Amino acid sequence: MTPDHHAVLGPVPGVPGFLVVSGFSGHGVMHAPAAGRAVAEMIVRGKSQTVDVSSLSVERFARGEAIHETMVL
Ligand SMILES: Cc1cc2nc3c(=O)[nH]c(=O)nc-3n(C[C@H](O)[C@H](O)[C@H](O)COP(=O)(O)OP(=O)(O)OC[C@H]3O[C@@H](n4cnc5c(N)ncnc54)[C@H](O)[C@@H]3O)c2cc1C
Repeated sequence: MTPDHHAVLGPVPGVPGFLVVSGFSGHGVMHAPAAGRAVAEMIVRGKSQTVDVSSLSVERFARGEAIHETMVL
């Protein structure tokens, strides 16, 4: 679980080469195919190209940009 019930997906600042794909809360099965593709592209190509997952960065909490979701618990 994360504070906004959305995944944390992507690199962790200050820890080179460490990617997080976790915290899917109540919708991890639904998000799994896209998350897998996104993180595979990050590893191989340096960034997610198929889907923009920048809003799922762990840094969003420090920036006060948690995602408000009204459709999915
Ligand atoms: C009641 C409930 C209902 C849900 N309903 C839905 C739904 O309808 N639709 C949907 O899309 N999602 C649903 N989800 C959410 C979905 O199940 C999760 O988001 C998803 O399973 C998370 O997948 P994961 O692989 O990231 O983590 P997990 O499935 O939690 O896998 C993590 C694995 O890591 C292992 N592990 C933990 N610590 C260690 C360690 N130190 N060393 C080695 N292994 C370790 C655990 O044993 C586990 O096997 C529901 C979840 C719950 C609890």
